[in-house]
Amino acid sequence: MDFHKKIKRIELPTDWPVGPVNVYLIFGDKLTLIDAGRKLEKSWTEFRETLRKEGLSIRDIEQIILTHHHGDHIGLLDYILDNHPVPVYAHGNCRAFLSQDQTFFKNSRKFFEHFYKEFGLPEEEACRLAAMKDYDKSRLRRINIEKELKDGDMVEGLKGWQAVETKGHAQSHISLYHSEERVLICGDHLIGHSPAGVFLEAPQHSGEERSKPLIQYIESLKKLLKLPVDVTLSGHGEPILQLPLKIHETLNKINKRAARVKGKLQRNKKTGYELINELYGKKAETAMGVFISDAIGLLDLLLDRNEITAENHDGILYYRAN
Ligand SMILES: [Zn+2]
Repeated sequence: MDFHKKIKRIELPTDWPVGPVNVYLIFGDKLTLIDAGRKLEKSWTEFRETLRKEGLSIRDIEQIILTHHHGDHIGLLDYILDNHPVPVYAHGNCRAFLSQDQTFFKNSRKFFEHFYKEFGLPEEEACRLAAMKDYDKSRLRRINIEKELKDGDMVEGLKGWQAVETKGHAQSHISLYHSEERVLICGDHLIGHSPAGVFLEAPQHSGEERSKPLIQYIESLKKLLKLPVDVTLSGHGEPILQLPLKIHETLNKINKRAARVKGKLQRNKKTGYELINELYGKKAETAMGVFISDAIGLLDLLLDRNEITAENHDGILYYRAN
């Protein structure tokens, strides 16, 4: 059987601006589902309908692998596992989200309150935004991970595939790679038709240093660049056919955006919040959390490259170009 026929892409609706999300069925020794869409009735109906057309049902799925913990990739787990408990494999950093670890959510909220104030947000706004980091209340189940996947791990029943840790978009992000067939399932690390974002997350344990998602993201891109790949299957949209080109374009865009941020910090020192308002104005208010993740990524990168300096005045960070 042609290898590509052993992978079926199923596009499912979401209620998010990103649009539809892809899940994949791999017909390996075990029928494996990669990712689980958004928790919506219409998504659940479409998923079952597609399986039915393939002569399959939910009961035929033997295991599930998650590329990361975001709500448009884990939503249908609630429905699938309800009547059909199968093992779920994922990166260890999915655990807190899947098990709905209340200590983690409490620490996460505290972390973001502190972080947002340091970023220059007014106190009330910092608290309001941090409270939105609470867990997704529509999720009912606490899901157990059968086995945590680390970089290089194979999954039983899925010969030839291995996990590649690709942090940046999420701290729990893995891709799946088949070296013989040169196929990569890249989750949300790269999306053909739009730039994939990076998201700041609270540390897994309180008191640990926070991650620097854009620096991780670039490292992950460079890691993928070393893999011979013909077809890249993304979490959203059509397959990517020229992975190295897409990676170089993405790196170039990041460098351009970093230069623009540096330019804004040339004359006066600014807080992250002032920077965002200057760059995006009113538009930033529509998705402040997303804009902040994006900006802190670029600021981390410029600090790492020694192109800017950060000074702390009374608990607020001010950035200035060197
Ligand atoms: Zn995602």
